[in-house]
Amino acid sequence: MTDSRPSNAALAARDLRHLWHPCTQMHDHVHGGVPMIPIVRGEGPWLIDADGKRYLDGISSWWTNLFGHAHPRLATALAEQAAQLEHVIFAGFTHQPAIELAEELVRVTPPGLERVFLADNGSAAIEVALKMSFHYWLNQGRGAKTRFIALTGSYHGETLGALSVSDVALYRKTYAPLLLTPILAPSPDAYQGEPGESPAEVAARQLVELRALLERHAHETCAVIVEPLVQCAGGMRMYHPDYLAGLRRLCDEFGVHFIADEIAVGFGRTGTLFACEQAGVAPDFLCLSKGLTGGFLPLSAVLTTAPVYEAFYAEYGAGKAFLHSHSYTGNPLACRVALETLAIFRDEPVLERNRRRAAHLAARLAPLADHPHVADVRQSGLIAAVELVADKASRRPFPAAERRGLRVYRHGLEHGALLRPLGDVVYFMPPYVMDEADLDRLVDVALAGIERALAL
Ligand SMILES: *Cc1c(COP(=O)(O)O)cnc(C)c1O
Repeated sequence: MTDSRPSNAALAARDLRHLWHPCTQMHDHVHGGVPMIPIVRGEGPWLIDADGKRYLDGISSWWTNLFGHAHPRLATALAEQAAQLEHVIFAGFTHQPAIELAEELVRVTPPGLERVFLADNGSAAIEVALKMSFHYWLNQGRGAKTRFIALTGSYHGETLGALSVSDVALYRKTYAPLLLTPILAPSPDAYQGEPGESPAEVAARQLVELRALLERHAHETCAVIVEPLVQCAGGMRMYHPDYLAGLRRLCDEFGVHFIADEIAVGFGRTGTLFACEQAGVAPDFLCLSKGLTGGFLPLSAVLTTAPVYEAFYAEYGAGKAFLHSHSYTGNPLACRVALETLAIFRDEPVLERNRRRAAHLAARLAPLADHPHVADVRQSGLIAAVELVADKASRRPFPAAERRGLRVYRHGLEHGALLRPLGDVVYFMPPYVMDEADLDRLVDVALAGIERALAL
């Protein structure tokens, strides 16, 4: 029998002739020896390439996948919806998947969030939240509020508005001349605490700094935007929930909005359905995407409060309507798959199972804390990160040009695991269907990869 399916090599060569990949210096693939891997199939936590090699997806395919690849329930929901209504203009028209999704999102998110605005990716949700916050204040006669407060080390996406409120140099620096200038508040990141300071103490100290910024800038500030509990793209930096509780109080006191970007941490990632729950707070804007469709389709949602909605509600001539439109807003396929994703949360003990798996992962990673080149092992639910450094005592990082993390990535691929360190932070963000045995496998590959990267 002859197999006429193209090989890895054949597909990769064709890819590199015409495609341009995100977050990639293409030279790495063309001349740098980093393989371009064509995936033909997904199965639970596994990705399978054109040569039949299997990879454990240790990062949920950029944090999107919750319940595994090609999940039968989600695939069926998608197929059924495609055969019925694939898309319809979402201005003047509506459909049941969007209606039910809005109802369900309002039900499961923190209290007070009653209005759902849909968009089609995470960055777009951030753009919506920023514009909506600004426009709210404008409609209230507060047009002087034009600025945003963001945290150092934050990441909110890469469209110009979202990038404006991001503080990861790799993504921001080059485009800085095009961007808004946010007011940066120091991150409550526990890793950057003083020696001996607890995460709660770091949070309290950085709230004092935030208060000082609000005292000076609240009159010109629309909102404070944060990634609740984990600054993901900034290196999986984690902080104490007290910061969110304090942030909520300060936003109320100073009359600015609280935008929670739960695009990466929402839907159970940190142990609770939403990270804000751990502080017992509800934001004024909640941005969701990534896991919203279980990793199947691009979709995002911005939830907000009745008072925000009411500030836009007036007869047409008042000119107060919110303006932000994408052709694919409210796409029925994406909404239908998102509904099915939420149904899985209702039907299965997802958070409970995740807690057991998170504990297993923690136990496996604990020994690394004593490693001479590991400065920190941290975890929040099913996000775990290992910070590799040149010098443990001073926490001096390796020179970036050594690309130690890339070594771990390449080792992972050779040994059947997708690990994609952020710089020298090796992290684990597995799909929720990865069981203890596969977690063991993933950690074993990572541990060997870390040794190899350090031996450089
Ligand atoms: C990924 C991410 C975004 C951007 O989402 P995209 O869909 O990639 O545009 C925004 N905020 C956070 C916290 C993210 O992790």
